[in-house]
This record gives sequence, structure tokens and C-alpha cells, in this order.
Amino acid sequence: MLTESNHYDVIVLGAGAAGFLCAMTAAKRGLSVLLLEKSNKVGKKILMSGGGRCNFTNLYVEPGNYVSANPHFCIAALSRFTAWDFIAMVEQHNIEYEERKHGQLFCVRSAGDILEMLLDECARSGVVTETHVEVNKIAVLTGESDARFSLRLEQSRKHGDSTAVSMTCRSLVVATGALSIPTLGGSGIGYDIAEQFGLQVLPQTAGLVPLMFTDTLKVVCDRLAGTSLEVELSCNGQSFTESMLFTHRGVSGPVVLQISNYWHPGDEIHVDLLPGTFAADWLVDMKANHGASLLRTVLTQKLPRSVVKELASLLWASSDHLSLAEFSDTALCQIGNELNRWPLKPSATEGYRTAEVTLGGVDTNGISSKTMETSKQPGLFFIGEVLDVGGHLGGFNFQWAWASGHAAGLFV
Ligand SMILES: Cc1cc2nc3c(=O)[nH]c(=O)nc-3n(C[C@H](O)[C@H](O)[C@H](O)COP(=O)(O)OP(=O)(O)OC[C@H]3O[C@@H](n4cnc5c(N)ncnc54)[C@H](O)[C@@H]3O)c2cc1C
Repeated sequence: MLTESNHYDVIVLGAGAAGFLCAMTAAKRGLSVLLLEKSNKVGKKILMSGGGRCNFTNLYVEPGNYVSANPHFCIAALSRFTAWDFIAMVEQHNIEYEERKHGQLFCVRSAGDILEMLLDECARSGVVTETHVEVNKIAVLTGESDARFSLRLEQSRKHGDSTAVSMTCRSLVVATGALSIPTLGGSGIGYDIAEQFGLQVLPQTAGLVPLMFTDTLKVVCDRLAGTSLEVELSCNGQSFTESMLFTHRGVSGPVVLQISNYWHPGDEIHVDLLPGTFAADWLVDMKANHGASLLRTVLTQKLPRSVVKELASLLWASSDHLSLAEFSDTALCQIGNELNRWPLKPSATEGYRTAEVTLGGVDTNGISSKTMETSKQPGLFFIGEVLDVGGHLGGFNFQWAWASGHAAGLFV
């Protein structure tokens, strides 16, 4: 339980990925560290991540895997604490992990292994962790070198009663994450704290999130719900090739989550349903060799039957009864081009309810990329997803949380 009038060298707000790394790194330097969590449990997102197996990092982390108004900001922290540094800790704790495609590393057993490791590291280095704590007020103290901040905190207890206490600290670290999935702790308090100290907060949007349709495509997606296929998706100069899953509301799956980071309302996305095949040439070729076949029959060699049925009614409904030989080469080329570049206009994303990350957030221009401290207020640090750094799918977001948390932990 929190007690009145305690002082710590460092108080970290938010016991998520970034908060843990910062707290343990600072405590290993001999500092007294208090890690505060608003909800009833620490590390909820870690437990839910990677389908319960936590895709904790990626072997191929590059600055290009991150979306930010300042693309260079993430470089220093990511180079100081790399995927290999985190892997070393995972190996020291004998956690079994596996490499999946694109260099993604997952726990073999459970995401709980990663949380246990972080809790163990924190406990061994003397971090004090408290849950059920809300921050009601943060004030700056003047005149005392060791107590720069005073915090008014409220810790709720069983049966609804709560205790209010004041705490002081020399360094305050905001690791409260962002808006994604409110039931897993998503909150905007980090933005409020940033604004209190005069930092810019850039507009936020849901990232790594399924896309939805309202028009006839919603009906088509609903009929195909559960079907997935490998496609290339492109939007605003970015392309990803992975699987796309039809849902009752639209499309999801890894490739959709990736492209959602680059999609803005009103934009079209383009789907290459036959990546690696120049469909126009292939169809003309099929006409020459299998002229008696129906177009839909030929296409089922490369696409699920249910998808071909929907495409037939969308793209060549009036000619669906024709054999390939009865199509002109021009008509086949046109259909082929549409299969390689099918334009879709999503109406919206599914929003923060299902988004894996929040894009935008605390403007990195007011933050040191080396230390994560803000130039506006000595001793105040921002780390993890609260900052305007959003990663691709594949372990990049955790690597940013670990790396930025570690950077701050060295300088608090
Ligand atoms: C379902 C899901 C699956 C994911 N899977 C992966 C994956 O496999 N790989 C990957 O790289 N990324 C994944 N992510 C993204 C990743 O979880 C986040 O990018 C990462 O957790 C961000 O770390 P963070 O510490 O900045 O924030 P968080 O992990 O969100 O931690 C913030 C903490 O602060 C607490 N908090 C909020 N407000 C307050 C307050 N006022 N006072 C005190 N505490 C507060 C929250 O309760 C929370 O515990 C996933 C996200 C989701 C939602």
C-alpha cells in the first residue's frame, strides 16, 4: 500500500512494456523507483499480445518500420537497446521462443513468460510496484534539488474506498501508453500531462486496425467472413504482402493492419489479389490453352472459390456464362488489371476498440531522442506509445517500448 509523504528518486507512471524497462534499468543504477499502475493488474497488453504468445521483438528492426512526424527520432534509442539486448534477457530467463516469418520472435509457451521475466527483473532490482493508483495532480517543486515533483495520488482498495497520498520524486516518467483498447488500460492521461507542461500533442488515430466498409462491399465481406488469402495491399506509396481476412464488417489480417497505418479517411486502398502474377498476361495465356473453360473455373486455381464467385458478380457479371475463348483479349486484360489492382474504399477503421496501437501523440520535437527527457521541464520523461512513434506489425512496437524505456532508465 502507498504511504503518505514518501520520496523516490524516480516515479514511473504506467506498468506496461516501456514502464517496466525504464523502472528496472533505473533501479539497477541504484535509484529508488516506484512503478505505479492505474488498473488492477500490471502488463495487461503484454499478456494479450501476439495472440497470447507475445511477439516481443523482431530481428530486422529499422527506423523505416516506424511511423512518426519525425522519422529520425527513434534511431538513437533503438540503436542503444537492440532486439539482441532484449533476446539476451529472454535467454537468461530460459524463456523458449521461436522465429516466425519476417523475423518475428514469439514465446513458445505463453506471453506470461515475458511478464514474469519483467516482474522478476523489477523485484530483483528493488522496484516498488503498486496497482490501483490514479494520479490526480502533478506539481513542480522549486528550491529542493532532489524533489522536483509532487504527486497527489489516489489508491483504490477493495469495497470501493480509497486512500489519497502525496509523493515526491526527482524524475517523473510518463509511460501511460495511448488510446488503444481502453479495457487493457488505454488512456489519454499522458497527453494531458504533456499539455500541462507545454508540450505539443499531435492528433491521434487508430493504427494496426481492421478496415470497414459501408457499401455493397460490406455485404460481400460479410458473405466471405472467415476466408483469408495472400494479397499485396497498397496505399499512399506503401505496400505489404501478407494474408488478408474477410470479416463481417470489412477486412482484417496482418496485411490490412499494416496498411491501416498509412490509410486516411477517404483514401482508396489497392488489392493485388494475385501477387507475383501479371494477371492480364496469365488470363490471355489461359485463353490460348484452355479456351473452353469458364473464367471463374480458371481463377479457382489461384483464389478461393468463394472469393472468385464474389469477384465474378462484381467484375464480369454480364459475361460470367462465357467461356474464356469468347472473351476478347482486351476484356481479359482489363479483368486481369483489376485483379492486380482492385480499388477498395474503406469507410472507416474499427477504431481504438480493436486497434493494436495509437498513431500520433506527444510530439517528439520537445523530447531528447537520447534520454527521452523533455526540454520543457527538467526531470520529466515520456516513453513508449504515448510518444508519436508507431510501429509496424511484427514486434516493432514492443521493441520501441523496451528501447525508449531503457533509454530513459539510463538518464532519470
Ligand atoms: C491486443 C494487442 C496485441 C498486441 N500485440 C503486440 C505484439 O505482439 N507485439 C508488439 O510489438 N506489439 C503489440 N501490441 C502493441 C503493444 O502492446 C504496445 O505498443 C505496447 O504495449 C506499448 O507499451 P507502453 O508501455 O507504451 O504502453 P502500455 O503497454 O499500454 O502500458 C501503459 C500502462 O499504463 C497504464 N496507465 C494508463 N493510465 C495510467 C495512469 N493514469 N496511471 C498509471 N498507469 C496508467 C495502463 O493501464 C498500462 O498498464 C499489441 C497491442 C494490443 C492492444
